[in-house]
Amino acid sequence: MRIAILGGGFTGMAAAYYLAKKGYDVTLFEKEKVLGGLAVGFRQPNWDWYLERAYHHLLDSEDDILNFAKDMGFEDIFFKNTQTSSLYDFHPQGVAKNGLAHPEGVSDYRIFPVDTPHDFLRFPLLSFPEKIRAGIILAFLKSSPFLTLYEKQTAQEFLKKTMGERVWEVLWQELFRKKFGKYAENILASFIWARIKKRAKNLGYVKGGFQTFINYLEKQLKSLWVKVSTGYEIKRIEKGNNEYRINNIEKFDAVVSTLPTVIMSKITQSIFSQSFLNRFSKLKYLHAVVLILQTKQPILDKTYWLNICAPKIPIMIIAQHTNFIDKKHYGGNNMAYVGWYVDRDDPLIKMDSKEVLNFCLPHLKKITDNRLLITDYFLFHGPFAQPIFDKDFLKNKPDFITPVKNFYIANLDMTYPYDRGTNYAVKLGKDVARLL
Ligand SMILES: Cc1cc2nc3c(=O)[nH]c(=O)nc-3n(C[C@H](O)[C@H](O)[C@H](O)COP(=O)(O)OP(=O)(O)OC[C@H]3O[C@@H](n4cnc5c(N)ncnc54)[C@H](O)[C@@H]3O)c2cc1C
Repeated sequence: MRIAILGGGFTGMAAAYYLAKKGYDVTLFEKEKVLGGLAVGFRQPNWDWYLERAYHHLLDSEDDILNFAKDMGFEDIFFKNTQTSSLYDFHPQGVAKNGLAHPEGVSDYRIFPVDTPHDFLRFPLLSFPEKIRAGIILAFLKSSPFLTLYEKQTAQEFLKKTMGERVWEVLWQELFRKKFGKYAENILASFIWARIKKRAKNLGYVKGGFQTFINYLEKQLKSLWVKVSTGYEIKRIEKGNNEYRINNIEKFDAVVSTLPTVIMSKITQSIFSQSFLNRFSKLKYLHAVVLILQTKQPILDKTYWLNICAPKIPIMIIAQHTNFIDKKHYGGNNMAYVGWYVDRDDPLIKMDSKEVLNFCLPHLKKITDNRLLITDYFLFHGPFAQPIFDKDFLKNKPDFITPVKNFYIANLDMTYPYDRGTNYAVKLGKDVARLL
């Protein structure tokens, strides 16, 4: 059987690997020049490791990708202890209750580690009873099995009810607003369940960067006779008698699409009924915008991952990559990511790299007390990277099997209730391969 796999991210690569192992004749199509999708990396002449275009790490509970690597004899994944923190603004209104006086109208940004129960107990913006109550709910979520109950209420409703209004306002509200924008209030409680369930202190990374693993995987695919067709954009798929035609040229018996649902819907108009495709038009997405900064001094002292909980700073996260991975691999430079998820009509999405830099520079300077010397910067867009897990999503998300014989879907909308990730991409690739 000739199988076409659309999309050369982790889902497509894993599907290609498992299908080729079953003896199928597999072709993997990717529109970019290199495989990797959202996890793709790049390298500068004086770097000896790749750097992902969007911040990437693994969790030690992510067995699917760890076993996948082991299966292929790839041993270069390691784990490290890292620091996660949150940035808050002690502006006058917020300060009064906590007795920390500050001149009227002046922001006072402070960073608090939020990794351990000890960090949480020292966190100054909540009272002791509030922290105990929140801690009990977090422990409950960590040990509780997945319940459909979490799908019947929003995260906001659940967190306010269980942890209290003030804990919602201080700990969660801004995180949700930054990650989900105008959809923040509609996100299901299942999202928070999955997030807490998977949280880990030790984070994993690939020696040489994720692209090293991707390149290794590409070699394995080729040794299994997979045809890897990069720089090939799929514009149209048609169905003839028992075969699929891609771009009116290539012919296949089966298709596995790992493309974002919106793109898949566009290229399969002549294959699927309008009522089937209409379902997908109800799904909502945000798009990732990531600015990578190369600086003389680190932006953050010890923290790898910084949640920005200050409403006046229009940035979602800063990830100081070189507080996780040694800067010697990047020519001795400090590397940091500044990240957002935005709607398609957000001005940020239309800005070029210089404009994005100018947009965030004044805010970064406030955080770093002006000691910021940028030596280079790079911009990355991840289209459709963040599906919105709301009630519409539950009713309309895609499934592996479609109404049309031998056309399968496996894409990042299907990792629910878990937030998308390379681990789940590998699992999707493996699971879809079982169906053929
Ligand atoms: C900002 C950000 C941070 C992340 N952080 C992490 C992390 O820390 N850890 C982690 O494990 N995961 C992380 N992820 C998620 C992870 O990158 C994805 O879940 C995973 O890479 C998805 O793989 P995929 O193959 O399903 O999709 P994709 O990687 O999106 O692959 C789809 C592929 O289809 C290709 N394509 C699209 N249209 C066409 C076309 N018409 N013709 C041919 N090819 C086409 C695309 O170029 C792409 O390569 C992050 C993602 C983002 C955006």
